[in-house]
Amino acid sequence: MTAPVLRARFAPSPTGFLHVGNARLALVNFLWARRHGARFLLRLDDTDAARSTDTYAEAIGHDLHWLGLDWDETHRQSARLDRYAEAAEALKRAGRLYPCFESEEELRARREQRLRRHQAPVYDRAMLKLTAAQRAAAEAGGKRPYWRFLLSGGAVGWDDLVLGRRQVKLPAISDPVLIRADGTPLYTFCSVVDDLDSGVSHVIRGEDHVTNTGVQLDLLAALGADPARLRFAHLPLLLDEEGEKLSKRFDSLSLRRLRGDGVEPMAITSYLARLGSARDPVPATLAELIADFDFSRFSAAPARFDMAQMRALNRRVLQTLDFPAVAARLPEGATEAFWRAVRGNLDLLAEARGWWDVVAGSIVPPVIEGEGAFLAAALETLPAEPWDAKVWEIWTEALKQRTGRRGKALFLPLRLALTGEDHGPDLRTLLPLIGRTRAAERLRVAAA
Ligand code: GLU
Repeated sequence: MTAPVLRARFAPSPTGFLHVGNARLALVNFLWARRHGARFLLRLDDTDAARSTDTYAEAIGHDLHWLGLDWDETHRQSARLDRYAEAAEALKRAGRLYPCFESEEELRARREQRLRRHQAPVYDRAMLKLTAAQRAAAEAGGKRPYWRFLLSGGAVGWDDLVLGRRQVKLPAISDPVLIRADGTPLYTFCSVVDDLDSGVSHVIRGEDHVTNTGVQLDLLAALGADPARLRFAHLPLLLDEEGEKLSKRFDSLSLRRLRGDGVEPMAITSYLARLGSARDPVPATLAELIADFDFSRFSAAPARFDMAQMRALNRRVLQTLDFPAVAARLPEGATEAFWRAVRGNLDLLAEARGWWDVVAGSIVPPVIEGEGAFLAAALETLPAEPWDAKVWEIWTEALKQRTGRRGKALFLPLRLALTGEDHGPDLRTLLPLIGRTRAAERLRVAAA
């Protein structure tokens, strides 16, 4: 007997750019799939034709590739409308999909009435009693029905791979609309048909879909499938540093924005893979994250997304990157020695530009008040070229002998004069890169 084929899918709607919340789901699906030899599908939930665009669809692929993720198949819901229509007909034949004509206003009024009577604000199924004659009359008047799914009674439960045992009580939910009056099918429905047809075995998505899962398990059974063929993993909500729902800030946390800000994809994936688990994030390759992946590490409690922590991780990631990994993004002419000198001092790669100006450009240091004599002595003791890796030690030792200064009093004016900054990469490595001509000029300027 062969083992059943495992499949996961990441199913974004191409109605916007991917943000860290989507990226976390894409990543977790990917890590799970690659860990278990499963197939990984990208599914574009694009039945909302008014809001879905090709630009967003392409951006999603681009962003996922940028993160380093790949997938085995791409599906688009908009290409499967016939299939949804066919599945809808089957539900109608089974008496599980019924036509409705109420307007939004009517429904709102009835909901409010129920609330006043202390009844649950659930759709009352009035349209189930619609007679053929009433329907014909409504249609003759130009109305077209939309279609609701008749939920079963009782509760549906599943063993969630992250949240544990979960149950949804169907009588507490209004029969969901699956088909709009214009005939277009809605996500809840398409998603189930797709998961069935594409043989998905694991649905890994956000906790905001827990109620949907109850409905979709019922739908699955109505379509004649065994609900037990699907396993679910719902990742807890993301909160921001203040404990507010992160979804409010998703626009400012899009992957393209983070990319523009110079955050490394590896920092994002390393951070998101550990978010909501008990372990601190560390710089890790995707291969390492795959080998390490296990749902049992995730907590069922909401996770806090902390930008400062991700930035700190970005700094650590940069320290692990070798020159070839960054060369194309460094300023023109930057060398491996330069990268080695500065990579420990960057929060973001873009800051390398400033250090490249220090090393190879013509920065003008500030005049350092009260240090004229000291800097003049520094200029006089600056060794003649050629320089080697020892030049900083030789120079500062000579200067120490001559001026009696040590520690900060010795080093800080030199750093300020040579780099224009009061902190930064080790001057032992930086000075040889700056070279004698620039160093001498800067000492002169700072002493004036
Ligand atoms: N398009 C849905 C969403 O973005 C997919 C949810 C699911 O994974 O089923 O929320």
